[in-house]
Amino acid sequence: MIMRLKHVKGSEEAVEKSSFVLHSSEEVKEKLSELSDSRLFLEIGMGKGRFITENALLNPDVFYIGMEMYESVMIKAIKRLEDMEDKAPSNLMFLRMDAKDILDFFPEESVDRIYLNFSDPWPKNRHSKRRLPSREFLSLFEKILKPGGDIEFKTDNRDLFDFALKEYEPAGFKIQYQTFDLHKDEDEMKNNIMTEYEEKFSSIGNPICKYRIKKLP
Ligand code: SAH
Repeated sequence: MIMRLKHVKGSEEAVEKSSFVLHSSEEVKEKLSELSDSRLFLEIGMGKGRFITENALLNPDVFYIGMEMYESVMIKAIKRLEDMEDKAPSNLMFLRMDAKDILDFFPEESVDRIYLNFSDPWPKNRHSKRRLPSREFLSLFEKILKPGGDIEFKTDNRDLFDFALKEYEPAGFKIQYQTFDLHKDEDEMKNNIMTEYEEKFSSIGNPICKYRIKKLP
């Protein structure tokens, strides 16, 4: 799986102007202060945003922030909300951010759940620290999660998943659920929302791996 980046003309500007986007750590802080009682769920590397948008529509009592590093990708998620007009969920916003800077945006113990879906595998060993389910990234995520907060990770990349299974314990998590073939698990599929990558890779027969890990007290 290779990340192909094509430049989409005008996408930087469109992201900058969009009212669906949080544009600074100050705007994030302000938003979080308005949330009071609702839970906060993040997706890191949301891509075109189908998963988080469907989640937001199904769970109006949860506030969602979808994060993506590239404007050229995020623009698709913005367009989807624009096309929904007045049906766009009001409990969803986007943030253009590199996951390595997450502590600049979210205070400690402020987040209830983080989703990682089809994160880039970075197959070379010397790049292992760039993988989002690495212990290095999980340790950052652990800080912003509330006690008892959790992370859900899905991928069709078995090597990345096997790697991920060795990383959560040293980062302060315990396993809650794991499967090497999500689409055969009827119970877990009841609430499954497919991502764009999940649809693509499961349709060519790749089994989908998933885990749910919980922050240790
Ligand atoms: N979650 C989507 C897209 C998966 S592709 C789906 O399942 O369909 C992985 C996405 O993560 C890409 O859009 C990529 O730009 C983004 N990404 C990769 N590294 C990132 C990082 N460090 N911070 C934020 N986003 C990142």
